[in-house]
Amino acid sequence: MIYIHVPFCKSFCTYCDFYSEIPGGGMFDSYTDQVCAEIRRRAAEMSDELKTLYFGGGTPSVLPLSHLTRILLTLEECGHGGPYTEFTLEANPEDIVEKGLPYVESLRQLGVNRMSMGIQSFDDVLLRWMNRRHSAEGAKEAFRLVRKAGFENVSIDLIFGLSNLSDEVWEKTIDQAVALGPEHISCYQLTVEGDNVLTMRLENGEYEEASEETCRHQYDILCRKMAVAGFHHYEISNFAQPGFEAVHNGGYWARRPYVGLGPSAHSFSGRGRSWNSATLEGYTLTSEALSLEDEKVETLMLALRTAKGIDGEFLLANCREEDVKRLIGQGALCQVGRRYRIPEDHFFVSDEIIRELV
Ligand code: SF4
Repeated sequence: MIYIHVPFCKSFCTYCDFYSEIPGGGMFDSYTDQVCAEIRRRAAEMSDELKTLYFGGGTPSVLPLSHLTRILLTLEECGHGGPYTEFTLEANPEDIVEKGLPYVESLRQLGVNRMSMGIQSFDDVLLRWMNRRHSAEGAKEAFRLVRKAGFENVSIDLIFGLSNLSDEVWEKTIDQAVALGPEHISCYQLTVEGDNVLTMRLENGEYEEASEETCRHQYDILCRKMAVAGFHHYEISNFAQPGFEAVHNGGYWARRPYVGLGPSAHSFSGRGRSWNSATLEGYTLTSEALSLEDEKVETLMLALRTAKGIDGEFLLANCREEDVKRLIGQGALCQVGRRYRIPEDHFFVSDEIIRELV
């Protein structure tokens, strides 16, 4: 499993807390040189046990094809080239529309077999408020181009949990996402954190965070509509048509080792975690070993986010029996064969449930 962080965005969304830079002045060259050098340096850490490649960001679709190709050739040169079981590239709609069909076709030829599109909303007023660069129509056009290029596995990202998102707009957004016919939809709840415009608006009294009740209500609408549309709610924030669950992200939740390359990328070796500093020039890697307690908490937290849940033996060996029994009694935990999971109607409060267990 390999993750490559592409830290470039043409502008910054109001809510975003990811590390990213506005590209210019040879930044693509310098970034690509450093990622290729990192691939060569860390090739021995990469395992092909689960052969996935994920370009995330930032906005990977701003990276020129020539630079993407250099990175892929370097992976090949180091014995970790394609084809990959799953090769995802995150893309913003405006890049797809601007670069057109030849760009998306080239991505396919390079081996990308899953596109993850950052659409966030189908409401133009909200999109402008978020400082997104695309319109609802632009997002639909981008989706059509991706399909035309032959992509059969497309994911759409949406955001909820905003105080200025009405039920009507949220329902319409979900309906429009479903109507496009994607294989996968990820929905993330907005959190106000970090040094960004939304934090500033909150501090200035220009924005009020959505209440817990509002967020829960929007999440309930989402769950209901996704079920009607035939999506499997296989992880708190993720819905898939049968057989299209994300393989790479599934590896994160199962705590499989992965190597993260590029500024601010995180890695997991199976025994410890490491992360690159969030700087474009000369980023460095910091590592930390995990204690047995850390491992236990991580395993529980990640597995209980999924519909598959956690192995019963592991749960009972690491949590107090009375807590498990109490949560089962409250309907916050249920047994499915040899495993335990948080039922979908309690996914929204999974953090509290997991806290009670650990
Ligand atoms: S949300 Fe995506 S496109 Fe927007 S600033 Fe963050 S990384 Fe860039």
